[in-house]
Amino acid sequence: MSKDTKKGALLVVSGFSGAGKGTVMKKLLKKYDNYALSISMTTRAPRAGEENGREYFFVDTDTFEQKIEENKVIEYAKYCDNYYGTPREYVEEQLESGKDVILEIEIQGALKVKEMFPDTVLLFIMPPSAEELQRRLVSRGTETAEVIKKRMDRAVEEALFMEKYDYIVINDDLDRCVEELHGIVNTVHQEAARNEEKIETMKKELEELSKGE
Ligand code: 5GP
Repeated sequence: MSKDTKKGALLVVSGFSGAGKGTVMKKLLKKYDNYALSISMTTRAPRAGEENGREYFFVDTDTFEQKIEENKVIEYAKYCDNYYGTPREYVEEQLESGKDVILEIEIQGALKVKEMFPDTVLLFIMPPSAEELQRRLVSRGTETAEVIKKRMDRAVEEALFMEKYDYIVINDDLDRCVEELHGIVNTVHQEAARNEEKIETMKKELEELSKGE
């Protein structure tokens, strides 16, 4: 990924299933217009109320595997028996146009993206407690007890990788979580390494001014 300051930042948001990532993302995107959320492709069945092209592009396994072969996904992973992947074209276009692109993906994918593009910012949304996570998963009412168990087991595995993230944000209060995330992204844009052009311009201007005196 280039250090050109006009380009957006690539942000990966992960969190255990039930941590409330989806709600946090919706609110963040509604409030601020610098973000573009990548819509993933998945082989899992749509949940009640989900629409093709809005939450996900729902495809069959053959289609998914073909997209992998054609190099049309940036990364993909298997999560609880289904494929999930990030379509390449949209992400590249949006970054080019200056948007901060959010990939809401699980940990394996997140680590792959960081390896490919080291200046990716990895953000982890944590529930206030494990108990609260379980309560949210159950009260969502969209999954069977068996699926909930699988997702809780997966959280135990995922927790081993939390240290690899750049920032941990707790989703206790929705508004606070959104503001904290946005604050981090603002700070990221101020990193010296992402402002090489501004630094160079300042250096040149200073040299010219001091020569002129
Ligand atoms: P869900 O089935 O609850 O919508 O998503 C299950 C998990 O898959 C979540 O942790 C979600 O962040 C992750 N996920 C969604 N899209 C992608 C993707 O494109 N790539 C990867 N690696 N994970 C994804």
